[in-house]
Amino acid sequence: MADFLPLFDAISEAPLYIAGPCSAESREQVLAAAKGVSAAGVKIFRAGVWKPRTKPGSFEGRGAEALLWLAEAKREYGLRLLTEVATPEHLEEALRVGVDGVWIGARTTTNPFAMQDIADALRGVDIAVLVKNPVIPDVALWIGSIERVYNRGVRRIAAVHRGFGTFDMDMYRNSPHWSVPIELRRRLPDLTLLSDPSHIGGRRELIATLSQEALDLGFDGLMIESHPTPDCALSDAMQQITPAELDDLLRTLVWRRTPVAQDALRNHRLHIDSIDNRILELLAERMGVAREIGEYKREHSMAVVQRERFNELLQAAEQRGENMGLSRHFIHRIFSAIHEESVRQQVEE
Ligand code: PEP
Ligand code: MN
Repeated sequence: MADFLPLFDAISEAPLYIAGPCSAESREQVLAAAKGVSAAGVKIFRAGVWKPRTKPGSFEGRGAEALLWLAEAKREYGLRLLTEVATPEHLEEALRVGVDGVWIGARTTTNPFAMQDIADALRGVDIAVLVKNPVIPDVALWIGSIERVYNRGVRRIAAVHRGFGTFDMDMYRNSPHWSVPIELRRRLPDLTLLSDPSHIGGRRELIATLSQEALDLGFDGLMIESHPTPDCALSDAMQQITPAELDDLLRTLVWRRTPVAQDALRNHRLHIDSIDNRILELLAERMGVAREIGEYKREHSMAVVQRERFNELLQAAEQRGENMGLSRHFIHRIFSAIHEESVRQQVEE
């Protein structure tokens, strides 16, 4: 896959910015968002009309009716228009109102059957197709989804990095795992790669840093959620910014001609940072389970330290570690430290 085309013929600027509300909520909200986003200099407008929600009962979008508001916003402000599609029927309805492109959401790109259905419906359709990363950090699954679209003849494709589902949501809503988009870029160097700091961060305070980080890594642009009154948004309220804040943000971002990511050492360091974050997340998850065990032991008047269990665990870890090229001594020290902390957390509950 190499002969990709620009997403839109007349827009060749770098970086490429896409902005708009998470969801289209009303005609007034859509028009206000489009006006603000356009005033911030953004030429590509996004808004979801069918929202794939994790929890049933959350706001699921206004559906086809909202497409008419989007079409009006496109005409009124001369914007390119993007919306999310998850089925061939969505695509058909979106095309009917003249969208310039669609994005396929993380929950949809995770499912090869859904992806194939949409890809089949895209045959012969010349619009931009943005493929968000699947919810799990699996670069092959992401590329597979892109390939399904490509195989049906679409060439205006971009990948959108929106982070990956995580158990521990302390810092990010979706962990960036930068090594995944970096690997995607290594395998598909000609593909437009965008980042979506809104869905990665989940909190508006994180957007600026995540945006600059993506640009430094050589991403081609950003998709940012912007809503006229973010706190009243019906979906993703915490991560949206006003068009005025968007304007400020875009002015502060630095676009370097030679992305820092071309520096191999920095690439490796980012990879290490991403691995370290995973180690921390796993340690926190393990301590959570240890505290639950502590509670169980207390209820059943059991001793906190069960020497036999620890010895078994240690030996198994030393053996597996050795098979992976790690020294037994090193594994012994690490697991002893982890065990010690588990015991402390169980006792301190
Ligand atoms: C969105 O862009 O509003 C959205 C639902 O994104 P994701 O699929 O990345 O969660
Ligand atoms: Mn959203």
